[in-house]
Amino acid sequence: MSNDLTPTQTPAQSQPNYALATRLVHAGEHDRHAPENVGKVIPTTTPIYATATFLHPRSADLDAAFERAEHGESEYIYTRYNNPTVEALEMAMASVEGGRGAVACASGMAALYLALLAAGTPRGSTEPHPRHILASKDLYGSTHALMRRFFNAQSVGLSYFDVTDLKAFQAALDEHEPDVVLVESLSNPLLKMADIETIAKMTHDADARLIVDATLTTPVAHLPLEQGADIVVHSATKYLSGHADVSGGILVARTGFMLDTARSYCRQIGTTLGPFEARLISRGIKTLSLRMKQQCNNALRVAQRLEKHPKVSRVLYPGLASHPQHKFAALNYCGIFGAMVTFELRDITRDHIFQFMDDLKLVLPATSLGDIYTLITYPPVSSHRDVSADELREQGITEGMLRLSVGIEDIEDIMADLEQALAKVSN
Ligand code: PLP
Repeated sequence: MSNDLTPTQTPAQSQPNYALATRLVHAGEHDRHAPENVGKVIPTTTPIYATATFLHPRSADLDAAFERAEHGESEYIYTRYNNPTVEALEMAMASVEGGRGAVACASGMAALYLALLAAGTPRGSTEPHPRHILASKDLYGSTHALMRRFFNAQSVGLSYFDVTDLKAFQAALDEHEPDVVLVESLSNPLLKMADIETIAKMTHDADARLIVDATLTTPVAHLPLEQGADIVVHSATKYLSGHADVSGGILVARTGFMLDTARSYCRQIGTTLGPFEARLISRGIKTLSLRMKQQCNNALRVAQRLEKHPKVSRVLYPGLASHPQHKFAALNYCGIFGAMVTFELRDITRDHIFQFMDDLKLVLPATSLGDIYTLITYPPVSSHRDVSADELREQGITEGMLRLSVGIEDIEDIMADLEQALAKVSN
């Protein structure tokens, strides 16, 4: 039931032919032309509803609201179940990704956990029973740990495949008969790209569901649901919010069943996002298109210049002709190649790596990615800290490998900082 608090369908939502950049700005906000808003003063942006509970006129109304909420309607009763500020973000992301609906969560990890539970729930059931998860080898370290500790340790089968080897993927589907497949659209730090359209088709032919963590590509580069994925997940802590000031996650589901299932688990487990965080993320996504373009342009130029630097032995960036999937990226990523650059320093020890990072003055050694600031991390001690040395070797993550998340600063300032710190590297 819609009421005065509900962020009504905006023109950007009801007319999906608006371009993505337009939907990123307008989706999820109040529509001044909606019948319930005509003749009223309404806020341009959704206010922060800093309330844990909502008051209904009479006890019978509250009872009826509970009843409607149980049947999937949007009702405001208790913020863990639903809150207008959070709902505005969910509506915006559902519109942008082209999904049936979205569930906003307290972090990207919470969104991944719910996605795995929902994808592992058989149709018609209200309980998660994943039997086997088949996942890409190149996942964020904590995602590996999540699957090991909370699924594999509870007797859910777990196996891995190389996302660039579709023959091996088919063999793994045949061998393990998974019910859930999990990939990242662009992996980190090796920057391998998943062919979502083909993987989705193969997954569905094998009667399984596909989850895509699209944190590194964002809706600006591609839309996994349009390519057949069942659930798309983002760490909203990264590009969606973009300013290093909030933690959050979001999942967008293609079908009503996946959506209702994920939402009911979210309410039960309490992985809900708070209204303050939701507002920061909603504000962030309005500038996502601008930020992504600037960050990706900067990243291409950083990659080109690092590739020529004598102290750099290897650069991984999908926009470089040297990247094994360069052609695929050019065809599939809307003319951009992401804003992550991975590079390897020549003949280097861990002490040298730490010294190089400490010598940087502008580039921030912070454990995150996707922000307006250029950030550098050393995967074995940060994003892949939970991954064993053997697994790192197996994945191809080397001792000299650094990951740069390129920001929106002036490219010459970013390069000058990297070059002054590289000049001090002695080996
Ligand atoms: N997915 C990817 C690809 C990530 O890089 C991260 C965090 O770095 C996450 C998920 C988890 O997100 P959060 O830190 O918001 O829980």
